[in-house]
Amino acid sequence: MSGRRGHGVYDAVVVGSGPNGLAAAVELARNGRYVVVLEAEDALGGGTRSAQLTLPGYVHDVCSTIHPFGYASPFFSALPLEEHGLQWIHPPAPLAHPFDDGSAVVLERSVVETGKSLGPDAGAYRKLMGPLARDWDRLVSSLLGPPQLPRHPFALARFGLHAVRSVRGLAESLFEGDRAKGLLAGNAAHSALPMERVPSGAFGLVFATLGHAFGWPFPRGGSQKIADALASYLRSPGGEIYTGIRVSSVDEVPRTRTVLFDVTPRQLLEIAGEHFTQRYRRALERYRYGPGVFKVDFALDGPIPWKAEACERAATVHLGGTLDEISAGEAAVWRGEHPERPFVLLTQQSLFDQTRAPEGKHTVWAYCQVPNGSTFDMTERIEAQIERFAPGFRKRILAKSTRNPADLQRANANYVGGDIYGGLQDFRQLFARPVLRLTPYSTPAKGLFLCSSSTPPGGGVHGMCGYFAARAALASAPLR
Ligand SMILES: Cc1cc2nc3c(=O)[nH]c(=O)nc-3n(C[C@H](O)[C@H](O)[C@H](O)COP(=O)(O)OP(=O)(O)OC[C@H]3O[C@@H](n4cnc5c(N)ncnc54)[C@H](O)[C@@H]3O)c2cc1C
Repeated sequence: MSGRRGHGVYDAVVVGSGPNGLAAAVELARNGRYVVVLEAEDALGGGTRSAQLTLPGYVHDVCSTIHPFGYASPFFSALPLEEHGLQWIHPPAPLAHPFDDGSAVVLERSVVETGKSLGPDAGAYRKLMGPLARDWDRLVSSLLGPPQLPRHPFALARFGLHAVRSVRGLAESLFEGDRAKGLLAGNAAHSALPMERVPSGAFGLVFATLGHAFGWPFPRGGSQKIADALASYLRSPGGEIYTGIRVSSVDEVPRTRTVLFDVTPRQLLEIAGEHFTQRYRRALERYRYGPGVFKVDFALDGPIPWKAEACERAATVHLGGTLDEISAGEAAVWRGEHPERPFVLLTQQSLFDQTRAPEGKHTVWAYCQVPNGSTFDMTERIEAQIERFAPGFRKRILAKSTRNPADLQRANANYVGGDIYGGLQDFRQLFARPVLRLTPYSTPAKGLFLCSSSTPPGGGVHGMCGYFAARAALASAPLR
């Protein structure tokens, strides 16, 4: 770290270099503030790191990998990240969802084309998704913003009518067939909520709408490119980043008037708890974390031999079949069990990005939900789900790397018990995140802010939590 550390010259210190920490630092720097980012791990990027997890020449995304939120993010879109090395790749289709009969539903960019593979539900799908995809520009300020009065109440009301339901309630009231219900349930499963719980329907709609309105792209070369582009942009006006520095107490932070923490409430309490009111401390203690994740990365000798050829058109494939099966798997996790047939989120970027693996070889990224803190090895069950829809998959495995919740948390303290979203995203915690407060980014301690995905709008790589936290800090007295 430069000699300036400790001399009180920084306008702000950001603890943690995840997408939200970097976004906060960028917003402060482009408003003329002198900023330093302190990152605990040796590599920067938090949930946007990439690494050679299996064999030489294979690039794997350690955490996040597909970026509809990053691509749609109003903040990232406002930055010249392409000039700093970020290149988006759009696979021909955002998502495929295979079934046991050897067919697959494909979520296409076009709502109408998607409907065509949904049999009796083509019309209902068009009616549901068409207006949402068209309204996305107006919805985005509400869905990727902090809690506030909606600027486009009618567009939001139309969304809200459907969204304030569980995905089972929504799918069963609108669709007849298993294909449309399964497609929506797979999207809703990104919420890590039971399929019968509100607002799982909202997650299903948001993910599908993003697919139609923006696609589900990913960065050429890996998610690390997002972090690298943000870091490069931050350094251009003189922002600084130091890795390998874990902050355990506010007292360790270089002297400054403002600190923004890209950490979750549990760590915030440890680092700065003594500076908060008792009421705020108690509220943070009540903050809840969701299920964990078990992840496997594979190096393959060739592409996945899908039964349904359509799966080769998408980078993301949802493995779980019907709504009932996905629901049973997620419900088991919520009972503290490990489902025999877990819902598996799988990505295969190397089909569309030759930088990920040696010629003719491939990478695969897959995870499923497990109970928070679980140590159970789900590798066998994840492989069995892939094999079910792609017989012969196992024979193509050259190497694999597995991570259970404890491994995830060791590599990034924000993944408490393996929760990848910085805290449960149920109805209450989506709005009162981390606590019910007019400016959820501020704390009762002057100059201390929270900027992680434990603030609105929540998990995912979009940088909007960091951006809004920086705006709150800029509006506060200490930074003026
Ligand atoms: C397996 C997995 C798959 C995912 N898939 C996707 C996906 O495909 N698309 C998507 O949009 N999102 C995905 N996510 C979620 C996404 O990665 C997170 O929502 C996002 O990274 C949150 O960003 P953040 O900046 O709030 O926190 P993080 O990215 O978690 O960054 C926090 C940073 O702070 C550092 N830190 C923590 N404590 C300290 C300390 N005391 N001192 C210094 N530094 C500290 C950490 O090391 C880390 O670098 C996935 C996550 C995982 C784990």
